[in-house]
Amino acid sequence: MNLYSGLINKLIEELESLPGIGSKSAQRLAFHIIGMPEEKVNRIATTMMDARHNVRYCQCCCTLTDKEICPICSSPNRDKTTIMVVETPRDLAAYEKTGRFEGVYHVLHGAISPMLGIGPNDIRLKELISRLQGDVKEVIIATNSSLEGETTAMYISKLVKPTGIKVSRIASGVPVGGDLEYIDEVTLLRALEGRIEL
Ligand code: ZN
Repeated sequence: MNLYSGLINKLIEELESLPGIGSKSAQRLAFHIIGMPEEKVNRIATTMMDARHNVRYCQCCCTLTDKEICPICSSPNRDKTTIMVVETPRDLAAYEKTGRFEGVYHVLHGAISPMLGIGPNDIRLKELISRLQGDVKEVIIATNSSLEGETTAMYISKLVKPTGIKVSRIASGVPVGGDLEYIDEVTLLRALEGRIEL
């Protein structure tokens, strides 16, 4: 049975297709949007389109940014010789929130997963390797402690070691299977400070 008109249903359906939004939330949001002033709806829609059009990968670290080079990579205060490798921009944000890491990042946009058919060429590894030609003293691998994260860490350490660059892995303390973005800052800092050279 169709409770609402076609357009309302369509809006609910679109919202429901977003991650983390169930049918009840979708209904609530749909009616909220319909009740909002038109210019506010317009602003949200335009912001979404702008972000979609203009956000891209940083040419250096591959995080998402609306500039050629992201603010972290272009900051003169960051130590470019220390690169922390993370899986997602959300992991980067989690470490940035601690305010204690002064190096730069490399965002892989995923992890190697033979089970899902995701190989080394499907994540931003080539870009990392080409960064190692520059002046790099340490690569800190901060991938998740899931099977995929560990596989990726091992793969990267094998790639980096022959270059003579120091390679380390963040310490345990990050729970197994733990998603970095949900772990509190103290735990993240402890994991970073207690990193182990590979
Ligand atoms: Zn960057």
